[in-house]
Amino acid sequence: MSGADHIDPAAGEPDVRLYALHPDGWDVRIKSTWEKEYCHARLPGEEHFHLLLCGEIFLAQGGEKFCLQCALRRGVITRNRLYWQRGTGPAGESSAAVQPGSDEAQSPAG
Ligand SMILES: [Zn+2]
Repeated sequence: MSGADHIDPAAGEPDVRLYALHPDGWDVRIKSTWEKEYCHARLPGEEHFHLLLCGEIFLAQGGEKFCLQCALRRGVITRNRLYWQRGTGPAGESSAAVQPGSDEAQSPAG
């Protein structure tokens, strides 16, 4: 099993910071009740929605809620602190999220 995320041993602790690629319209919330609410997305191969737990940090846009794992998968947020270097230009210029590993990145002059 490879359940552990990539951790740089030199760093000691994983970087848990997250960055919203297009923050407009998104809210970060913490679920504060045990009322049943579900993540709006599912992981590939899964047939159930994730139950959001009390105390869980999640993202919301309109009436849709996403757990952080799904938000990461969907490209709403990223762990890449250098995301802004690849997504040149202001947010909204391109509707497509920057895909990690894509070779289509344009090189800005300068
Ligand atoms: Zn989810």
